[in-house]
Amino acid sequence: MRKEFLPFSRPSISESEILAVGEVLRSGWITTGPKTAQFEEDFCSYCGCGGAVALSSATAGMHLALMALNIGPGDEVITPSMTWVSTVNMIVRMGATPVFVDIDKDTLMTGADLIEPLITERTKLIIPVHFAGAAVDMAPIRTLAAARAIALVEDAAHAVGTEYNGEETGRRGTAIFSFHPIKNITTGEGGIVSSDNEALLRTIRSLKFHGLGVDAHDRRQQGRSPQAEVLEPGFKYNMMDISAVLGLGQLQRLPEFIAKRTVLAEQYLELLADVEEILPLRVPAVTSRHAWNLFVVRLDTERTALTRDQFMEELKKRNIGTGLHFRAVHTQQYYRKTMPLKPGMLPATEWNSDRIFSLPLFPDMTIDDVLSVVAAIKEVLCS
Ligand SMILES: *Cc1c(COP(=O)(O)O)cnc(C)c1O
Repeated sequence: MRKEFLPFSRPSISESEILAVGEVLRSGWITTGPKTAQFEEDFCSYCGCGGAVALSSATAGMHLALMALNIGPGDEVITPSMTWVSTVNMIVRMGATPVFVDIDKDTLMTGADLIEPLITERTKLIIPVHFAGAAVDMAPIRTLAAARAIALVEDAAHAVGTEYNGEETGRRGTAIFSFHPIKNITTGEGGIVSSDNEALLRTIRSLKFHGLGVDAHDRRQQGRSPQAEVLEPGFKYNMMDISAVLGLGQLQRLPEFIAKRTVLAEQYLELLADVEEILPLRVPAVTSRHAWNLFVVRLDTERTALTRDQFMEELKKRNIGTGLHFRAVHTQQYYRKTMPLKPGMLPATEWNSDRIFSLPLFPDMTIDDVLSVVAAIKEVLCS
């Protein structure tokens, strides 16, 4: 058994990133400023997007995107229930109605064929979720949305570095990325909205800082314009330079991170191939670069005496941390009460929700760590 606990995720922070954060702390300007502007620029050149607004989280990005798209009471927003709660929470907080779409059982991603039957005249927005670092098949969904003038926002929280049919995620349309410590690059907390829709970005830029109609920092002003006025009540969702400078270093190392994650994930796939009770996800063919944010598996509970939760507990006893991405949103207390779905309405989502968990995967892990995880899995299965 391992001597030290292996967490399921851990950020990789270099000494030079720590120094750079120190420099910002000493500089006299620690909140939104030149580093945030640079981070937005570098992110855009990385993914080839038209523009981007850095924020305090992806959840903030989703909130502002929904506001900028005027999503409100009477509107329906189609999104999977197999996602993080933040998206659905924001839809509900805007007074709109989430409409849950099922997923492919083995990629955990939705598709145009599943979305189409759910479209009504109230459908205002579709939010597909790129899962684990693989890519949603966007082309058919784009066609579907464009034909009906329905807005499209990609939840790309897992997809920093994911490529879809040769196209960087974020290059087209509107996408929201997260820089929470378990994502592919981190700014501590943080997120970014990329878009080719300039008007949308302008609204988000204004709403992120009180609705002042100016950015939190203006290069010419060496700060923000002191005479700025509230054009519309906004929020306080700007990213700090302390965070952005960390993001600048992380972005440079993204290719290295993905390369390491890929080696580890391939090792898992090879070692787990003959473990019948553990079912990894299928990688969709449209994913031309998998960013391997998560290594998600399902426990085949028909073949084991243990439930998923018990299995995770047994691994923990053996010093192996695991994650749960995700328990379906509609099974959470608030959603059970307010939008009771009958069992069987989202069959692939429900099946996965009871069986899914994530194995440790982060750039500073070693092949020996992977071997110890697989050994612990085999031990639990044999006991
Ligand atoms: C992490 C995550 C988010 C939210 O990101 P934050 O930066 O923590 O707000 C949204 N959607 C998915 C699928 C996520 O995994």
